[in-house]
Amino acid sequence: IAMVTSVIRPLASQLRRQLVRVAKSHRISPVRTCNLTACSSKFVLSQMHPMWQEPLAVPGGDRQSPIDIAVRKSVFDSKLKPLITDYDPKTCQQIWNNGYSFLVEYDDTTDKSTLKGGPLEDKFRLCQFHFHWGECNSWGSEHTVDRKLFPAELHLVHWNADKYSLFEEAVVEDNGLAVLGVFLKIGKRHEGLQKLVDALPTIRHKGSVVEFTKFDPACLLPPNIDNYWTYHGSLTTPPLTESVTWIVMKQHIEVSHDQLAVFRSLLFTAAEEEVQKSMVNNFRETQPLRGRTVRSSFTPFLKDSGLDEVKEHSH
Ligand SMILES: [Zn+2]
Repeated sequence: IAMVTSVIRPLASQLRRQLVRVAKSHRISPVRTCNLTACSSKFVLSQMHPMWQEPLAVPGGDRQSPIDIAVRKSVFDSKLKPLITDYDPKTCQQIWNNGYSFLVEYDDTTDKSTLKGGPLEDKFRLCQFHFHWGECNSWGSEHTVDRKLFPAELHLVHWNADKYSLFEEAVVEDNGLAVLGVFLKIGKRHEGLQKLVDALPTIRHKGSVVEFTKFDPACLLPPNIDNYWTYHGSLTTPPLTESVTWIVMKQHIEVSHDQLAVFRSLLFTAAEEEVQKSMVNNFRETQPLRGRTVRSSFTPFLKDSGLDEVKEHSH
């Protein structure tokens, strides 16, 4: 990583991203080979995404993500500050089908789109957002709340621009990343999301990239971003590095069934592949908490405003 970083630093961001993708896809990190029980989902091998089929480099740590958030075990922390998002839609550049999800990518060469506050001491730059979703509306999220699954989950990925100079550097470092998670529920059509949904048919196949500009990621946040859970965890896709401060919103957003159906019309596969596979169930299973504490910015037992109900769920 360090070598790649030093070589590509002077290049323009577009080219840089291309190179990093190539470097990432060929990277060998012989830390620990993942056993299938640790990394696999509830789906059988034949249905598993190729990303999880290769021998995986897992950091082997105690801080893996996603997790189940047990509401009553989360600890209210009065020192947690409100989050400050400052996003410039002009930094939005392109939308990319990476064969596992679709990524809306932002120019992160300057401090124009940032996240501060909350549990964070530094300023973090937005580099991309993406979603995870299921084949039907009964599952699809990565995090769960009292074992309750949501049909989809949004991840806004930021890296620590106070401590590091590139995403690729931050991703392997402690306190390198901050990911904002938002649950999606089925309900009303989401007007902000629709511009994105309209672009998806142009990136159906793996590897497709199209220009996508002026999209304000703030439109995908719930009305109240002051109520959240936070914990230390990892990326949920390889390289699974434990560099992430997770900030999971208590409030969800609503999207229509039809909008999520367009997500499901994307493909894991490239145009030239013989057997095409729908892009669904692109989430990782919840991982053990292993002694970590989930902190909340709100007191779980007080009566909440109607919007952010998280219903008790017997399992
Ligand atoms: Zn994600």
